[in-house]
Amino acid sequence: MARYSAFAIARQALNYHQGWERAWRSPEPRAEYEVVIVGGGGHGLATAYYLAANHGIRNVAVLEKGWLGGGNTGRNTTIIRSNYLQDPSADIYELSRSLYEDLSQKLNFNIMFSPRGVLMLAQTEHELRAWKRTFHANRINGIESEMVGPDRIRQIAPILNVDSPRYPVLGGLWQPRGGTARHDAVAWGYARAASDLGVDIIQNCEVTGIDVTGGRVSGVRTTRGQIRTRKLCLVVAGHAGVLAQMAGFRLPLESVALQALVSEPIKPCLDCVVMANTVHGYMSQSDKGELVIGGGTDGFNNYTQRGSFHHVEETIRALVEMFPVISRLKMLRQWGGIVDVTGDRSPIIGRAPVEGIYLNCGWGTGGFKAIPGSGWATAGLLARGEDPVAGPFGLERFTEGRMIDESVAAAVAH
Ligand SMILES: Cc1cc2nc3c(=O)[nH]c(=O)nc-3n(C[C@H](O)[C@H](O)[C@H](O)COP(=O)(O)OP(=O)(O)OC[C@H]3O[C@@H](n4cnc5c(N)ncnc54)[C@H](O)[C@@H]3O)c2cc1C
Repeated sequence: MARYSAFAIARQALNYHQGWERAWRSPEPRAEYEVVIVGGGGHGLATAYYLAANHGIRNVAVLEKGWLGGGNTGRNTTIIRSNYLQDPSADIYELSRSLYEDLSQKLNFNIMFSPRGVLMLAQTEHELRAWKRTFHANRINGIESEMVGPDRIRQIAPILNVDSPRYPVLGGLWQPRGGTARHDAVAWGYARAASDLGVDIIQNCEVTGIDVTGGRVSGVRTTRGQIRTRKLCLVVAGHAGVLAQMAGFRLPLESVALQALVSEPIKPCLDCVVMANTVHGYMSQSDKGELVIGGGTDGFNNYTQRGSFHHVEETIRALVEMFPVISRLKMLRQWGGIVDVTGDRSPIIGRAPVEGIYLNCGWGTGGFKAIPGSGWATAGLLARGEDPVAGPFGLERFTEGRMIDESVAAAVAH
């Protein structure tokens, strides 16, 4: 594929931009692949890319029932950070954050990574202690983060009401190299680069059944025909339980709607991400000027991709308290995505109970930030049968009691 560059834009301009080729190939599915990945979100596409780029495995198909990034990857609030508590989390989230740094160059696709800093507020003594503990864990794991006091917070986010009436801000955990990226560009960038390396990306192809022969996977049935494979990787986020059922096993996951909303665009007023877990809300500003606001998860399982209305009210109430300057802003739109939540709020990357089936799911409310690291580790697992970063996240941890508890780090803010 032709490389994207300033020179290419200038050349195309001479031709009224009529000569651009499609960003990725759109082939007919073949009868058999070495590896079939179900789910064309960020994690599935990154896995396909690293399989081809790191391990030379190119006989790969990504099957997506709708359009690329149409699941949670294109619905999230794009926060990237790695300041988690446990060691295995530090490994995967920091690998991911560091891969984000030069991902635009590696993929030759502008993913608009913006390391603008992520501030997690402490508004109770308990939260302050929890962030201090995380800060020390981060230091031990070589992750750059900093405890900051109210005065520094006033400098970082001048529009924040630090002396907030209900819960004054006591301090915060600041990760200066955290930030945001354009979410659908991450999916498109991986898709284009993977397609360029020979991966078949097949949209509008829903997997409707999984064939298991003699205890081992033999293929999938799809709306575009049957496809044989001996390695199947399920990367379908909130629908992981549905696909597992097709193969005859259950997963320790709950699927719930998580929602977000954006305001009308305004002039730049916030150049970092601020999370306020105590009052339940977080906010950043997009390049277009919209305030990107994250809400909560529904308290019941569902597949609506919409979310309950009361969350909008509760989230806005919390944010107006934290940022009184937004009180007269109009909200532009609201949406939801179906997240797959595990008991310890950590993902599942590993083998399924059926031979030949691999899992990458359970990212819950916080998997956007993990896309590069997760793809890297899952590709390693598929290619070599094991991967040092993926290792601790196997399904066995639920029966062996080796939980990776991130319920504080992954509370509401992502
Ligand atoms: C509102 C919201 C805000 C969020 N904010 C953040 C954030 O700020 N930071 C962060 O790190 N994370 C955030 N997340 C979480 C993050 O979006 C997800 O963890 C991540 O995008 C999951 O990516 P994925 O590739 O696993 O899943 P998805 O992007 O959901 O991709 C799975 C794909 O599988 C496809 N699929 C499903 N069933 C089938 C089938 N039978 N056949 C074929 N294809 C199928 C779907 O169509 C979908 O495209 C947020 C999520 C939501 C909903």
